[in-house]
Amino acid sequence: MLLSIILLLAGAQSVFARCKCVPTDECWPSIDTWSALNSSVDGKLARNEPIAKPCYQGPGYSSELCQSISSNWTSNEYLAEFPIGYSYPLVESCPPVNATLAGYPQCDLGNYPVYSVKATTAADVAAGIKFARDHNVRLVIKNTGHDISQRSQGYGSLSIWIKSIQDGLHYHDRYVPGNGSCPSNWTGSAITVGGGYVWQDVYDFAATHGVIAVGGADPTVGVLGGFMQGGGHGPVSHFFGLGADQVLEYKVVLASGKLVTANACQYADLFTALRGGGGGTYGVVLSATIKAYPTRPVLGHNLDIVALNGNDDAVINATGNIMSKLPALSDAGYSGTAILTPYAGPLVYTHPFLNLLENNSTEALESAKDAMKRLILDDLLQHNGTSYLVLSTFTTYPTFHAYYSSTHHTTPGSNRPIMASRLFDKQTLESPKNNLTSLLETVTAQTVPNSTLWATLFNIVAGGKVLDPVPHTSMNPVWRRSHLLFQQIDVWPDNAGTEEIQQYRNDLTQIKLKAMKDMAPGMGTYLNEADPYDPDWRQDWFGVNYDWLASVKKKYDPENVFWCWRCVGNEGWEEVVGGAWFGPLCETGK
Ligand SMILES: Cc1cc2nc3c(=O)[nH]c(=O)nc-3n(C[C@H](O)[C@H](O)[C@H](O)COP(=O)(O)OP(=O)(O)OC[C@H]3O[C@@H](n4cnc5c(N)ncnc54)[C@H](O)[C@@H]3O)c2cc1C
Repeated sequence: MLLSIILLLAGAQSVFARCKCVPTDECWPSIDTWSALNSSVDGKLARNEPIAKPCYQGPGYSSELCQSISSNWTSNEYLAEFPIGYSYPLVESCPPVNATLAGYPQCDLGNYPVYSVKATTAADVAAGIKFARDHNVRLVIKNTGHDISQRSQGYGSLSIWIKSIQDGLHYHDRYVPGNGSCPSNWTGSAITVGGGYVWQDVYDFAATHGVIAVGGADPTVGVLGGFMQGGGHGPVSHFFGLGADQVLEYKVVLASGKLVTANACQYADLFTALRGGGGGTYGVVLSATIKAYPTRPVLGHNLDIVALNGNDDAVINATGNIMSKLPALSDAGYSGTAILTPYAGPLVYTHPFLNLLENNSTEALESAKDAMKRLILDDLLQHNGTSYLVLSTFTTYPTFHAYYSSTHHTTPGSNRPIMASRLFDKQTLESPKNNLTSLLETVTAQTVPNSTLWATLFNIVAGGKVLDPVPHTSMNPVWRRSHLLFQQIDVWPDNAGTEEIQQYRNDLTQIKLKAMKDMAPGMGTYLNEADPYDPDWRQDWFGVNYDWLASVKKKYDPENVFWCWRCVGNEGWEEVVGGAWFGPLCETGK
């Protein structure tokens, strides 16, 4: 089988104009050449081994180590500690399983990088880029490895891993542009994030200065990479705009190896592309200065609707009704993510929403509570105890950090979930012509028998400030008229075979995503939380900005040193997979 795949790849490769060198090629750099790179980056080059290799017979086998790897395998924090740790790989080539299982006869790197530069300086980054260019090796950029469309992975690649760049977090009472020449109308405070930090680091740091930063709901997401460059939403984006909207300045190493400062005055096109046009393709970001806002008191609202006596339909109906009220709830200052999921038992709708209050006054508090009661609770509570149980609690917190620290926000990693999503505008959600309950029935239906692992997410992370047009941003413009990011996540069972997995993927793209698109035509979605197999990904993820973004990519990386699947400007190259899941990157000549 392996031999036939190799032959297929070799045959397929020969029809392409030029391919990046992979370890089986003669053109792959020699050990001495890699050693020279290692010396030039002061010993920071790692030759990668699959993390779960100790689970497999052969050199390095250790059942004890394997146990420890297995028990940490779904922890995104654990995985982020490895140069080739990935939270949601589309293909898993070395899972920490009993290696005697027929399904996993071997363990290899798959489409993970072969070498990683654990960069700590701009010079390390430039050395990695130069090496990849000079030796025709595929290059990828990795931060936490959270990307769900394998944009920080690459078969036969060299990776630049930015986690070890730790130039600190710096607080500015008032932002002054780096080169002193760029006027800024931002008079508030700012934070410079100097390297591979995650949002938990920044939230904690911001709290010590009494400010809030616009980060992810999940604290393990990286700050500088896919999140910020791809848009970035979270608990407070509704109040201040998306993550990309917050960036005042970037420090970036270009494909040429040059370190530049990009802001509204210099490298303004690059600055704009890095504020929404997606990570991994324009250059390597080393730091970003972002806006910070004075902290505010928070009203939290927790709601659970639990189906009684198997009455799941009633919960779906109630959720459809809530969905139509989400724009109004968002306009009343509520934000957060609601989830509809069976939790392997009765169907449950649950939301931990927050409302950043303007001040501590009783009026502000009561007005926020009244909105929730009027829009959601009054109607819902009439049915409490009949077909479902309703639990509703309000809690106040003195600061955003107190609110955020009061609950867990981490999500487990796995290669089994698949996701499709759509941004919805107010008109679509509020129109009586649109049957939201029917949409929910379609997306939650599980055609694969016994499938109980799924979740429908209602992110009211847009609306509010996100609706304001902001100069120098390149997110899909449909964000500026969205109130809801709607997501369906399906998870295939552990023992699913190839055909079953394909059925899950087909259902998601061809039925569920299609239903979302049919209801919200002309919209699009968030490129970081989208179906990787969406055939219209360029239009749906970037909208009218795609062609302009591709021109910026071409300007700053004319030789395609940076290349990722599902990234802007990846035309002209293709992964030649043959019958396998991954393969060498080759120029198509188109
Ligand atoms: C558990 C989990 C929770 C999430 N929660 C949220 C959320 O609340 N809000 C939200 O908006 N998104 C969320 N996401 C999506 C997240 O924003 C994306 O997965 C994002 O791509 C992660 O970026 P990263 O840099 O951490 O990951 P990586 O996989 O390391 O990188 C992602 C992309 O950015 C590129 N990149 C990384 N570092 C750099 C750099 N320094 N310079 C240039 N390019 C770089 C990579 O090449 C790749 O293309 C979540 C994802 C996961 C897995």
